[in-house]
Amino acid sequence: MKTNKSILTDTFGREHTYLRISLTERCNLRCSYCMPEEGIFLSPKSHIMTYNEVYTIAKTFVDKGVTKIRLTGGEPLIRKDIPIILKKLASLPVELTITTNAVLVDRFIATFKTCGIKNINLSLDTLDKKKFNHITRRNYFEKVFENIQLLVKNGFTVKINTVLIKGFNDNEIVDFIALTKDLPISIRFIEFMPFDGNNWNISKMVSYNEVMQQLSVFYSDERIEKLQDASNDTAKNYRIYGFKGTFAIISSVTSPFCDSCNRLRLTANGRLKNCLFSSTESDLLTLLRAGKSIEPIIEKAVNAKFKVRGGMDTLKKLQQPKLHSQNRSMITIGG
Ligand code: SAM
Ligand code: SF4
Repeated sequence: MKTNKSILTDTFGREHTYLRISLTERCNLRCSYCMPEEGIFLSPKSHIMTYNEVYTIAKTFVDKGVTKIRLTGGEPLIRKDIPIILKKLASLPVELTITTNAVLVDRFIATFKTCGIKNINLSLDTLDKKKFNHITRRNYFEKVFENIQLLVKNGFTVKINTVLIKGFNDNEIVDFIALTKDLPISIRFIEFMPFDGNNWNISKMVSYNEVMQQLSVFYSDERIEKLQDASNDTAKNYRIYGFKGTFAIISSVTSPFCDSCNRLRLTANGRLKNCLFSSTESDLLTLLRAGKSIEPIIEKAVNAKFKVRGGMDTLKKLQQPKLHSQNRSMITIGG
């Protein structure tokens, strides 16, 4: 069958080859920057995509040019049918990856290998157990740390996502980079982003410039090596000379990378989001369940994509709660 890749090209000429699928709105952690303190209104179970629906929708995107799928959540590994989902998606001609908080990773090493998963992104915001318990409202620091090492030992490419929050973990930037001396991992510092219910305020964000300034106190300019960023990469990548691992900064707030965006997002309840920051969604699941084609609505959603951050193209707009709070909370989008 002839494929029609053009439906995933937006009005700015951006080709969308990367689909992030959230498998659940639930999580075994409660990170305060992601999950609102008061909890969230969960979709009824019957409104969440089944594994067959995940596969059918994913296949439609793959037929239209998607070459990479990342599973996320909530916490994707808490879904009981995750082994089935992984195996089904592994049968598609895509690079399959996952973002996880790492709490359950040790149970899935063999499944990841069977399914050809090579790259895994993990979340870890602090190297201090007490602070971990505080930010995640759960007590799994040791487990997460052991699992990171287990993945490295098993040959996976590991990237650690660290959301920087002023006064909480900005004093650990150098400690995180020190981990890359002997471990072949990449630490990715993420600028704290605003979503519904996460009490975001620009004063809590640690910017790209601030990270680099802090580093210059510890490492001379000659020791900080700028690496080549891959096309569509959201991160600016660096290495300290001689270190096995690397580090990167994801500056979605102070310097968005929307020009090269190739991402689309599917929420656990089957809604397509054309941007992490967009407040509009397209309901693919209801159409699929009604036996209708989902392609026209995908095309419409891709065409409606804003040039920058769901229309919040300036920092001033991003700071307006009435704009960013029209979006979901991060836990129900899938970062
Ligand atoms: N539970 C998995 C995990 O934590 O890796 C996957 C889902 S989580 C929503 C995906 C990523 O979003 C995590 O790396 C997390 O740090 C990031 N994230 C969540 N809220 C964020 C925020 N407000 N700003 C920046 N990154 C955020
Ligand atoms: Fe859960 Fe990940 Fe959100 Fe933390 S960042 S609450 S682990 S979904």
